[in-house]
Amino acid sequence: MAEIHRRKTPTVKIGQVRVGWEVPVVVQSMTNTDTADAKSTIEQVEALALAGSELVRVTVNNDEAAAAVPEIVEGLDKRGIRVPIIGDFHYNGHLLLKKYPATARALAKYRINPGNVSVGRKNDDNFRTMIECAIENSKPVRIGVNWGSLDQALLTRMMDENSKKAEPEPARDVMMEAMVVSALDSAAAAERYGLGHEMIILSAKVSGVRDLVDVYASLAARCDYPLHLGLTEAGMGSKGLIASTAGLAPLLLAGIGDTIRVSLTPKPNGDRTEEVQAAQQILQSLSIRSFMPQVTSCPGCGRTTSTYFQELAEQIQNYLRTSMPEWRKKYPGVEELKLAVMGCVVNGPGESKHANLGISLPGTFEDPVAPVYVDGKLATTLRGDTIVAEFKDILDRYVESHYGQGAKSSELVGTH
Ligand code: SF4
Repeated sequence: MAEIHRRKTPTVKIGQVRVGWEVPVVVQSMTNTDTADAKSTIEQVEALALAGSELVRVTVNNDEAAAAVPEIVEGLDKRGIRVPIIGDFHYNGHLLLKKYPATARALAKYRINPGNVSVGRKNDDNFRTMIECAIENSKPVRIGVNWGSLDQALLTRMMDENSKKAEPEPARDVMMEAMVVSALDSAAAAERYGLGHEMIILSAKVSGVRDLVDVYASLAARCDYPLHLGLTEAGMGSKGLIASTAGLAPLLLAGIGDTIRVSLTPKPNGDRTEEVQAAQQILQSLSIRSFMPQVTSCPGCGRTTSTYFQELAEQIQNYLRTSMPEWRKKYPGVEELKLAVMGCVVNGPGESKHANLGISLPGTFEDPVAPVYVDGKLATTLRGDTIVAEFKDILDRYVESHYGQGAKSSELVGTH
């Protein structure tokens, strides 16, 4: 497997979490509760953190939201949740940070959108005020450009200059360049106002996959700030998941990106933690980080006429997900575990042998038995109605014996 050479950056400290070249790529997420509703926000942040979000952003859009931030941070602390909380500011961040000094202190980082705080205009006092708050409170900032709110004065100027060229660039290219210039100019202004170089993270989010790859490749080549990656407004369901993966994968494989978010649109009342699972899965699929045991399962075909095989694969996946919060504490390294749940004898034994634990269910017209492989060797054969329970039992014993504190046991399963 080709090694990934991460782009070198300074390390930015966000609370107790570090972001940058020296540390693994960090997963972050954002709440969709009303921040002013401290109780709901605490609950959602807790859920996101328990799902594995290492940074959580909350919108700070008005007085009520700003006033609630210290209560949210304190409430999380009382629950033992120490995830750094980032404030997402637009338009009025300069006012809110000044008016609510306890909020400015409680937040671990400020996200500033240069497109809506006047940076680059003649009077960029609002941006300057936010930077001065960050300096006063020793907080890092993310300068987060978004093409939906790109600095219009800058874009207009660059479009005008382009139109005067003998051979103008396509408007799309000018827009991508304007995003990069907006991020770099804002970072330069922040440093001019006194913010340390190692206190700045940049992002330049767009909603098109090819645009995302181009804009970040350009940004990465022109600065050494850590980069936050994400496809903005990725969308719902498989569209959001696939577009995010398609956009983030080439960048991450090229060593670009120090923190990521997958901006999925949840279903109404859907589970917000899906975006955390998606970000983790992208990193794990690329062998960049491991978060939870991986299940290899075949798609099934005409050789599997019942739904039994899909149900087993789903039950094992759910079992892993619900067990991981505890396993993560008790069994260090368990996230590297590999399982195979296969539908029949064609690829079942072969795939199972490549996993730590594998089960191959009987296909149509095959003997109603399910061989189980442990570390590549046939360990037992299950049959009857208790296959799921017995396989989970084998899984539990494997995890305990290989990742628990006790002595490692090679005698995992008996032959039935
Ligand atoms: S392993 Fe068997 S059931 Fe699964 S896709 Fe292959 S042939 Fe079909």
